[in-house]
Amino acid sequence: MARRLAPGTRLVLATHNAGKLAEIESLLAPYRVVAIPAAELGLPEPDETAPDFAGNARLKALAAAVASGLPALSDDSGFCVAALGGAPGVHSARWAGQGRDFAGAMARVEKEVGTNPDRRAWFTCALCLAWPDKHTDTFGGRVDGRICWPPRGSRGFGYDPMFCANGQAQTFGELEPADKHAGSHRARAFAQLVSACF
Ligand code: IMP
Repeated sequence: MARRLAPGTRLVLATHNAGKLAEIESLLAPYRVVAIPAAELGLPEPDETAPDFAGNARLKALAAAVASGLPALSDDSGFCVAALGGAPGVHSARWAGQGRDFAGAMARVEKEVGTNPDRRAWFTCALCLAWPDKHTDTFGGRVDGRICWPPRGSRGFGYDPMFCANGQAQTFGELEPADKHAGSHRARAFAQLVSACF
């Protein structure tokens, strides 16, 4: 049984990724919680040492909840390419390096896929809500689609410009934020969190 978030709760958003922060703040907007970005509290970013998305989400949310004494929500997500055996996956951020060079990371994906006709790809998201007493609830979401080249669109973040969800002609980088939120991996994980925790 997931633990409920009461209206007015102060909730730490345990991410330092500006793109994720904006999306989570917008998804949370209809619910009456007071969202506090981890950076505002000066919380450090823990190393992502778990082998999977759920493990890394748990590690990030727990670190923020224990350090702040408040419930904390984290997101661990990534871009997975079938022809690359699911890579970059949990290493999605690392493929962009310290300089967050996503143009370079996208070019590497395209280069490694090469002439492989299998263009299937998906985004995965694990959201974890952790409490200072170390209780955690984790929710997952995924959106399937294909890789597009060259990248298109300047909205969104990360690998958005090279991903088209099934049934869509526009990349996530071209979609209006509301249209991305309608069916993204993050929105799907968030819908589960909402039904369990609000
Ligand atoms: P992490 O969860 O901090 O390890 O970072 C996940 C990485 O996956 C991000 O830095 C992005 O590169 C990528 N990613 C996750 N979600 C999205 C998304 O919605 N759009 C584009 N890229 C994403």
